[in-house]
Amino acid sequence: MRFNSLVMAAACGLLAAAGPSSLSAQQRAVVVSPDTAYDPVQPLVDRLDLERYKNTIKGLAQFGDRRQGTKRNRDAVDWIEAQLKQYGCQNVERITYQYAPAPTAGRGGGRGRGPITSPNGRGTPGNGPGGSRIFSDMRERGGANDSLSQPDPAIRAINMEPTTPGERQEVICMKVGTKYPNEMYIIGGHMDGIGWGQAVNDDASGSAIVMELARIFSMPDVQTERSIRFALWNNEETGLNGAHAYADQRGPMQGKEIPPGSGKYPEPKWLGMIQHDMMMVDHGPPTADGKLAPNQRPEADINIEFAITSKFADESMKLAFFWRAANEKFATHYPAAVGPHMTNTDSDPFKDLVPSLSLRENERGSQIGGNWDPTHHQPIDVLTTFNDKDYMLGLTSAQTTLGAIGRLVGAVVQK
Ligand SMILES: [Zn+2]
Repeated sequence: MRFNSLVMAAACGLLAAAGPSSLSAQQRAVVVSPDTAYDPVQPLVDRLDLERYKNTIKGLAQFGDRRQGTKRNRDAVDWIEAQLKQYGCQNVERITYQYAPAPTAGRGGGRGRGPITSPNGRGTPGNGPGGSRIFSDMRERGGANDSLSQPDPAIRAINMEPTTPGERQEVICMKVGTKYPNEMYIIGGHMDGIGWGQAVNDDASGSAIVMELARIFSMPDVQTERSIRFALWNNEETGLNGAHAYADQRGPMQGKEIPPGSGKYPEPKWLGMIQHDMMMVDHGPPTADGKLAPNQRPEADINIEFAITSKFADESMKLAFFWRAANEKFATHYPAAVGPHMTNTDSDPFKDLVPSLSLRENERGSQIGGNWDPTHHQPIDVLTTFNDKDYMLGLTSAQTTLGAIGRLVGAVVQK
């Protein structure tokens, strides 16, 4: 199917499902304009830059694995907040919550559901995370749990402090819409990590997409009709606690004008949520000894997943194909594929509230579950493991989301 007809079909269904009763004339023009016409979103996508994306990832990597409940995690939260303010992002705020797990609760504890791991990296073909099916006998190993597993003494030193229970914070900011400031899409990535490395792929790579989009949408010549929330979740690795805290605290505030008559909406009504988690490694199945295959595979793609068992399955599926169409329109390097088994990421708390997606390097269940990313929660998730082909997969995801969200919010660059 040609791009424009697919986008039109997807966007009409999506917008009808997501809340706004009709497309504005401007949005309709954006959605149906031929490929050769001036596209108001393209100049924004063109502002993405591989070196800037890499530098933002490096900025996060300086805080090691950013494990929640440590000073290195709090320092990273401070750094993210300073960056967002420097970009000019509006309404920079912190969500504050408590995290006090039972002593035995680890990854997947609480309200999350853990992945299926195997200590020796082997299993029998069968069910994987999120309702997926794993056809191979490869399995993820559990995350590293010993700081001494990190061979680099400088990184090991940064990661020494263990986690302690207590208060946690995460940073959010907003692009306020000019026409519908009371409605927004949420763009997320998680800034915390585990595994005694630098949490570069999981998930500086997704957090940097959120931060780069916040930077570009905050430029003074950029206007959007609808609002965009930028969220840098904490505590993803302990069971999505930061995303749950946001949903619990901010959900009831949706669409309320505070104070009345002010035109200000601290929490616009949610129209959709898009998470970015592990955006760089599509090296294919592991080598025979279970190690990371050395190179990005030629068939590398972005995996856009929705939860087919969720309340908003149909609307999320439409949104997923809208994202895929945006990839065909705006991405420079890698294609995108859609799958039905979104799982184990911060879009999960939103999936029964609004249309929700996750973008990843691989399908979370069938592929990462089959050990397609042996850097996952391991000491090799460090800057020196990755090259430009890996970073480019992340930047391609940024192009895809910027293009898609730019169209949905009616973004324009002021002349
Ligand atoms: Zn992650």
